[in-house]
Amino acid sequence: MLRTTITGSLPKPVWLAEPGILFAPWRVPPDSLAEAQDDAVRLALADQDETGIDVVTDGEQRRRHYIWGFLAGLTGVDLARLGRRQSRGGRYAKETEVPRIVGELARPRPVLVDAVRFARRHTRRPIKVTLPGPLTIVDSTVDEHGRTDEKTLAMRFAALLNAEARDLAAAGADVVQFDEPTFNVYVDKVEAWGVEALERCAEGVEATTAVHICYGYGIPRVLAWKTRNTEWGHYRTTLPLLARSHIHQVSVELAASAVDPAVVAALNGKDVMAGVIDVGTEEVETPETVAERIRRVLPHVAPERLYPCTDCGLVPRSRAAARGKLHALAAGAALVRQELRTPAARPAS
Ligand code: ZN
Repeated sequence: MLRTTITGSLPKPVWLAEPGILFAPWRVPPDSLAEAQDDAVRLALADQDETGIDVVTDGEQRRRHYIWGFLAGLTGVDLARLGRRQSRGGRYAKETEVPRIVGELARPRPVLVDAVRFARRHTRRPIKVTLPGPLTIVDSTVDEHGRTDEKTLAMRFAALLNAEARDLAAAGADVVQFDEPTFNVYVDKVEAWGVEALERCAEGVEATTAVHICYGYGIPRVLAWKTRNTEWGHYRTTLPLLARSHIHQVSVELAASAVDPAVVAALNGKDVMAGVIDVGTEEVETPETVAERIRRVLPHVAPERLYPCTDCGLVPRSRAAARGKLHALAAGAALVRQELRTPAARPAS
């Protein structure tokens, strides 16, 4: 019970990419990049092994960005000459630069299978692999080719993601997670076709399937929105839809936002990855703080189904802070696990 996991990304070593920023360019020349990424993955796995994280990832050390890392493996997408559009409902920025869809979308070969095989060889722990979800991809690209409606485009991406997810499971991924931060932005689209597209991604995948929803990375423009926002009612619509879906696990941000942990009660029957680590600050939580956050979720999820997790990716953080947070996550979960085994140890308050 209370098995710990992270959303996906960890900061990259300073010799691999500039720290503290998203989309950081590689600092290693192309002919040494693969070897350098292998080394960084070993370190990411070692950090999780040593701190005692139960379900690990490769820290997304091979991608500059969680969406682009998958798109780069497709044909029909231009990641060099970018377009501009409003994304995330304009919540965090008026416009952002996004990849352009310029041809027929296809996946000539698996994108992350070699990465999974490498991780599988270097840890005994269960491995999670993350892919961007279709609604989020559609919101993060401009379609200059098909100029079709969003649902049709999302279902096209979903078919490609499904083929990839099946391959990842066959290569040894224990969990395949689809990252859908836009589920917290476009509630109407989630209802109309977002969950349908997500389920298409997970169809026939022989691994545990998961969806991560959040308010984005812990970077200043996102934090500014989060501290201003007071309306979190979208979960009343989206979580029951996910509860009725075939997805096994749902990841919800609870540490940094003011979301009431009781919302996860709507996920009855699912595994819940509860965000108990704030990814927007360098300040490392104490294990006791993490334990208290876990205790606040426990009335709403059985401990066997509760996975203490980070709110979102740790990529913008320093490695020291990230390592500290991994340790706090594992230690905080261990405290609560101990209390559940010996109820007398539970604090009175
Ligand atoms: Zn996230």
